Amino acid sequence: MTIGVLKEPLTETRVSLLPEHIGILKKLNVDVLVESNAGEKAFASDEKYVEAGAGIDSRQNVINKSEIILTIHLPSASEVESLKTKVILGIFQPLYNVDFVKKLNVSNITVFSIDMIPRTTRAQSMDVLSSQANIAGYKAVLLAANLFPRYFPMFMTAAGSIPPAKVLILGAGVAGLQAIATARRLGAVVEVFDTRPAVKEEVMSLGAKFIEVEGAADASKAGGYAVEQTSEFLQKQKDRIAASVQKSDIIITTAQIFGKKAPILLTEEMIAKMKNGSVIIDLAAATGGNTELTKNNETVIYKGVSIVGNSNLPSTMPYDASKMYGKNICNFLQLIIDKEARPDDPVGRGKLNLNFEDELVKGTLVS
Ligand code: NAD
Repeated sequence: MTIGVLKEPLTETRVSLLPEHIGILKKLNVDVLVESNAGEKAFASDEKYVEAGAGIDSRQNVINKSEIILTIHLPSASEVESLKTKVILGIFQPLYNVDFVKKLNVSNITVFSIDMIPRTTRAQSMDVLSSQANIAGYKAVLLAANLFPRYFPMFMTAAGSIPPAKVLILGAGVAGLQAIATARRLGAVVEVFDTRPAVKEEVMSLGAKFIEVEGAADASKAGGYAVEQTSEFLQKQKDRIAASVQKSDIIITTAQIFGKKAPILLTEEMIAKMKNGSVIIDLAAATGGNTELTKNNETVIYKGVSIVGNSNLPSTMPYDASKMYGKNICNFLQLIIDKEARPDDPVGRGKLNLNFEDELVKGTLVS
């Protein structure tokens, strides 16, 4: 069997598999064919893929010759026809791209959207949303530090003292926890809010203060995701957060409810009360944003406060983002490839083995 790796659209710098992953797939008895220049922006040349044992070919040949196709973004509408009967893996956000996924279904394409993988312990090594959100949390803090007109750490110098920056992080999931760790490493004082009280210990172990609001809905049975909260709770939460917002220099928002529009945590009124020069990095911009003023993939300056809605932060670190994404994908491929040869295959190569009894295979299959 051959696995094909496609080059991503122009705005993407990541690639779904790096040369260092080829060896893992070779152990599954498969061949790997990579579209020419697919890894260029992630600093992986065609030569490196060849050295690792992959072949290089044109896009059309990669599609034609491969049974399984790896990509990060959805293929273009004009390519759907050529993908018939293929298996394709990527981050397709089927809950937002319903019509396109329906089209793939009608076209008889087997689609695994790896962002749909259940957040169970067994799936951790395949969790692409987590590996990419980790980067987003890290980069959000660096971006904020770059835009902020002051220091992060505290300094006592002959030219006067500098107080530490006050960072508020809303949502302590994967991105939020990494943002806390990064802001702490830079010397900021960090406050954190999340509707899941279970994260309090983790937050405190990273050296941040956890803001508590009583009366949150129980999320313990939601498979690691947040649940929707009552309007009374949300009001109480808004009031408590408003007090912290006014004092904060930097706010990083990461609150999301899987498959739904992001909750609004910061209103225009709250932002208007922030200090001049403050920075908000809204990681939830792609799903509507956590502030009333966020614009996806734009920076809005409102009364001296920068509100950054950059939705593709993993792309700003293409090498490590691809390294982690590729490893997640290799781990998933081990679930759907049987390395024993087909009896009728003289070359003796691994074969596709789709076990829909497996909750991870079933959970990610969207067409
Ligand atoms: P996650 O599900 O692990 O964490 C989200 C956290 O938000 C959870 O801990 C949840 O309890 C909390 N939350 C939900 N509602 C809340 C509320 N009303 N108030 C406070 N907290 C609340 O998600 P993640 O993987 O950490 O991703 C976080 C966000 O970052 C998502 O919106 C994701 O799409 C986004 N993201 C952005 C980029 C980028 O480049 N901008 C990259 C990757 C992920």
